[in-house]
Amino acid sequence: MTSATLPITTTPYWWEAAPPEHGLPADALGDCDVAIVGSGYTGLNAAITLAEAGGTRIAVIDRQRLGEGASSRNGGQLGAESKVDTAHLEKRYGRDVAREVEADFRAAMPFFLERFATLTGECHLQMTGSVVGAHCTADYRQMAAAVEGLPAAERGRYRLVPPDQLHREIRTDIYRGALVRDEGGLIHPALYHRALRERARGLGIALHSGVEVTGVAREGQGFRLHLGGGRAIRARQVIMGPNGYAGPVMPWLRRRLVPVASYMIATAPLPAARMRELIPGNRAVADTKKVLYYYRLSPDGQRMLFGGRASFTAIDEQRSAVGLRGFMRSVFPELGDVAITHSWLGNVAFCLDFLPHYGVHDGIHYAGGCNGSGIVMSTYLGHKVAERVLDGGQPARGLGRIPYPAVPGYTGNPWFLGIVGNLYRAGDMLARWRDRA
Ligand SMILES: Cc1cc2nc3c(=O)[nH]c(=O)nc-3n(C[C@H](O)[C@H](O)[C@H](O)COP(=O)(O)OP(=O)(O)OC[C@H]3O[C@@H](n4cnc5c(N)ncnc54)[C@H](O)[C@@H]3O)c2cc1C
Repeated sequence: MTSATLPITTTPYWWEAAPPEHGLPADALGDCDVAIVGSGYTGLNAAITLAEAGGTRIAVIDRQRLGEGASSRNGGQLGAESKVDTAHLEKRYGRDVAREVEADFRAAMPFFLERFATLTGECHLQMTGSVVGAHCTADYRQMAAAVEGLPAAERGRYRLVPPDQLHREIRTDIYRGALVRDEGGLIHPALYHRALRERARGLGIALHSGVEVTGVAREGQGFRLHLGGGRAIRARQVIMGPNGYAGPVMPWLRRRLVPVASYMIATAPLPAARMRELIPGNRAVADTKKVLYYYRLSPDGQRMLFGGRASFTAIDEQRSAVGLRGFMRSVFPELGDVAITHSWLGNVAFCLDFLPHYGVHDGIHYAGGCNGSGIVMSTYLGHKVAERVLDGGQPARGLGRIPYPAVPGYTGNPWFLGIVGNLYRAGDMLARWRDRA
């Protein structure tokens, strides 16, 4: 990176409009009916559903500032597609459960929009749809086959874009075609989080920041939560929503959530008309690579916000900016010399089975593991886990009833990520090489 592009701000671009804020301090936290660990979309949506159903004495607890996890750092791309296709779901769980799981994925976006309609404040929601670029010809063929295999009623929501028409959607020659989905779009993720906070406060929910939950143990009919600083509180129910920031507080959950850093950059502002030429439909863009790129325009249309796995091992924001700028240049060579103003990262959580989960373990409710795509899904999961708290033990369905596998050999140190990352990158290179062969 040249000195002309420095200095880079290492906080998310989104925080300029809506920085994470402090909530109530630790000493204002007392016994409660439901304690929710994690103030991201999962935790806040769980709290809102409980309060809307008449619940009181609900406390959301975060060790950072409110929303300082992934929920104010992400790309703001809205979608709720399963990473596991129907055939694999049926093979794993049988036809009926597979249908329930797919019903959850279908229900997530309508629920998100329903919840969104209850919020106030500008969040720059734009339901412009999404485009997925095919990394290789085989991926494009697979896209075509997947659309062909859909029931006729669903097929209309998708549109294949052959390579010679790619520029209508993305002005790049890097892909072998693309798939447009009408569903989905863009949001300002930190403003969405702020709107959730305001709704939660309006419902009387106590939002606490700077408080770490260090342990949860059964006590009588409820639980004792141990807090940093040696304090403890009691709660009748506990919901865990730590996602990519899960620590040792619930080892069972930690063994199922592998934190993976995702990195983003923002370019300096450029004329909106020029940027619009790059993504004419102003859609959310991603691709089919195993180590994917995802990108979009900023809400004012003047910046490219570009994300990806710049590294599978920890690197700082200056180094990740160099890597991401290289990726961005490979997609849009014309942005090669544009200054980068922001570079940041955050943790997503991957699960062994590439599906999100919610449920109860040893009486403790949990939700999370959206595998990198969780604005819509963690909104929905937060709601679903709260419904389980409210329904007091009705049989679970869909994502709430499938087995939640632990990652073999993993207890909190993801030592294998570097190896997996290299294998994925090699797979991506091989796929392109096969195209040429
Ligand atoms: C760079 C990046 C880009 C992304 N882009 C997209 C995108 O474009 N579209 C999309 O759909 N998704 C995207 N995601 C994923 C999405 O942001 C997450 O799936 C979603 O925000 C998860 O919400 P959450 O509430 O489950 O977790 P988080 O928002 O991460 O919140 C978890 C919280 O739990 C707290 N916590 C953990 N342990 C404790 C403890 N012991 N005590 C107290 N507090 C604790 C943490 O401090 C944290 O604030 C992206 C993520 C990142 C990082």
